[in-house]
Amino acid sequence: MDRILVTEKIAAEGLDVLRRAGEVDVKLDLDKAALLAQVAEYDALVVRSATKVTAEVIAAGKQLKVIGRAGTGVDNIDVEAATRNGIIVVNAPASNNVAVAELAIGLLISLARSIPQAHASLQSGKWERTKFVGWEVRGKTLGLVGLGRIGSEVAIRARALEMTILAYDPVVSLDRAEQIGVELVSMDDLLARSDVVSLHVPLVDATRNLFDASRIARMKRGACLINASRGGIVDEAALMEALDSGQLTAAALDVFSQEPPAPDALVTHHPKIITVPHIGASTAEAQISAGSEVAEGVAAALGGETPRYAVNAPFVAPESWGVLQPYMTLGRQLGCLISQMIVDPVRSYDLEFRGELAEVDTHPVRLAVLQGLLEANSPMRITPVNAPLIARERGVRLTERTDPDAQSYTGLLVVNVQTADNLHCFSGSVLRGESHIIQADGYFVDFVPHGPLLFTYHRDRPGMIGRVGTLLGTSDVNISGMYVGRLAPREQAMMVLTLDEPASAEVLAKIEEEEDIQRAIGVVL
Ligand code: NAD
Repeated sequence: MDRILVTEKIAAEGLDVLRRAGEVDVKLDLDKAALLAQVAEYDALVVRSATKVTAEVIAAGKQLKVIGRAGTGVDNIDVEAATRNGIIVVNAPASNNVAVAELAIGLLISLARSIPQAHASLQSGKWERTKFVGWEVRGKTLGLVGLGRIGSEVAIRARALEMTILAYDPVVSLDRAEQIGVELVSMDDLLARSDVVSLHVPLVDATRNLFDASRIARMKRGACLINASRGGIVDEAALMEALDSGQLTAAALDVFSQEPPAPDALVTHHPKIITVPHIGASTAEAQISAGSEVAEGVAAALGGETPRYAVNAPFVAPESWGVLQPYMTLGRQLGCLISQMIVDPVRSYDLEFRGELAEVDTHPVRLAVLQGLLEANSPMRITPVNAPLIARERGVRLTERTDPDAQSYTGLLVVNVQTADNLHCFSGSVLRGESHIIQADGYFVDFVPHGPLLFTYHRDRPGMIGRVGTLLGTSDVNISGMYVGRLAPREQAMMVLTLDEPASAEVLAKIEEEEDIQRAIGVVL
C-alpha cells in the first residue's frame, strides 16, 4: 500500500480521498531535518505553502511518485528537481476559480451601486439617498482580459446578469469562447467597447503594468476597471490619474503592487477605488476544494494515471479531459504491449490519432505511449514527466499524424513500429470508457487488456487452442478469455489469452515446442 505524508493542515474531505488511496500520516510539526529523515519512507508528500520541498528533500524521497500542493502556486516546491526524478507535482489550480469569480462579480456590483461607500456613509450617521444613484449592469458590456479558468467563470456569471461579454485572450480558441457565450476580440476593440474591464491574466513579464497610462487612455471614457488577478498588472499611479481626470469613473482592486500596501498608501484611500485585502480565494469552499482537488491529483498519480492538474506533466484542457483520459490509459497499455512483443531493434514509431482523437491536443496520449514503451525495460521509474527526457536520451524516434477517419470506431490510436525489416501495426480504441486492443502486430484481435496475457504466433490448425489450453491447465494457469486473429483460414494466426496468473517461462517454452507454434510470449500490462 502506498504511504502518504501530509505535512500541513488540509481539509478533512481531502484527507478522506487520500485515505482511500493509501496509508496517510499527518505530521504537522516536522522541521527540515525530520522531513529529510522521514520522507524516504513515503510514496507521496502533500504540503501547503510552508513546507519547503527543496532538491535535497526530493533527493531524500527515493520512493516519491508525487508531490501535492494544496493551493495554486508551487513556489515552495523545486519542480525542476522533481521533474528530473520523474516525480509528478500536482496542485489545485481550479479550487478557487469560483471564489475569485464571485468576488469579481461582487466588485462589479459594488462599483455599479457604490455599496461600500453607501455603507460607510450610513455608518457615519448620514442618510444620502440621492448621492448614491448607481447604474444597472444589465445591458452593459464587460471586457475580460484573460479567459482562462477564472475569466470563464466570471463570463458565465456575468451572462446571467444580462451583460454583453467580450474577451481578449491570445490563447483561447473561438470554439471555447463561443461555448461560454463570449465574443473574442482584440485588446483595442475590448478597450474601446467595454463599460467595465476585469483582469484575469497571470503576472508574467508580458503582463507587468499591462494596464499602464497608455492602455488606460484607450479605454472607453467613463469606464470602470476591476483587478482581482495579481498586483503589478495595473499601474496604480496611472490608474489614480485616470480616475482624477475623469477618464475612468471607478475601480475595484483585490490585489496590489505591494502587499500589504503601506497604511498610508494613496491607492487604498482613493475615494473612487474600492479595495479589499486580497480575499479572492478566501472562501470556506475554496479551502475544502483545494484539499480535495490536490488529494484527487495525488490519488490519480499513485494509481498510475495522469492527474488532471499536474504542474510538470502535460496539461489537459478541461473540455478535452473526458475524451483524452481513457486514451492515455490505452496509450500506455499499447506502449507496454509493444515493448514486450517487439524484440527486434526499432527504427521508429509512428502514431496515428484518428477520429475523435484528431480533434484534440493529443500530447498527453503521446507521452502515455512513450511511458508504456520505456517503462518495461527501464531501471528508472518512468512517468509522463520524465518520459520525453529518457526517450530523447535513448534516441527514440517518434512521429505522429492525425486522420479524421477512424473506420467504424469513434476514435482509434494506431502505433506503427518500424524495425529494420518489418512494419508492425498495433491499434486500440475506447469503448464505453474501456480500452480495447484491436490490432496486435497486424492481427485483428479485439480484447480488453488487463493482467497477464499470453500471445502465440502460430499456423491456424484444428486443435491448436486445445493444445495450448491443456499445457496451461497442467501448469495450473487459468484462462479468463481467448481471442484469435488470422490472416486467412489455415494460414498464419495469433492467439491472445487473458490469464488469471502469468504463464511461467517453462510453460512458454513448452508451448513453443508444439508443432506449428512459432512464438509464445507472456505479457503483463
Ligand atoms: P489561467 O491560467 O487559467 O488563465 C489565464 C489566462 O490569461 C490564460 O487563458 C492566458 O492565455 C491568458 N493570458 C495570458 N497573458 C495574457 C495577455 N497578455 N492578455 C490576455 N490574456 C492573457 O489562470 P486563472 O486561474 O484564471 O487565474 C487568473 C489570475 O487570477 C492569475 O493572475 C491568478 O494569479 C489570479 N488569482 C487571483 C486570486 C485572488 O485571490 N485574487 C486567486 C487565484 C488566482
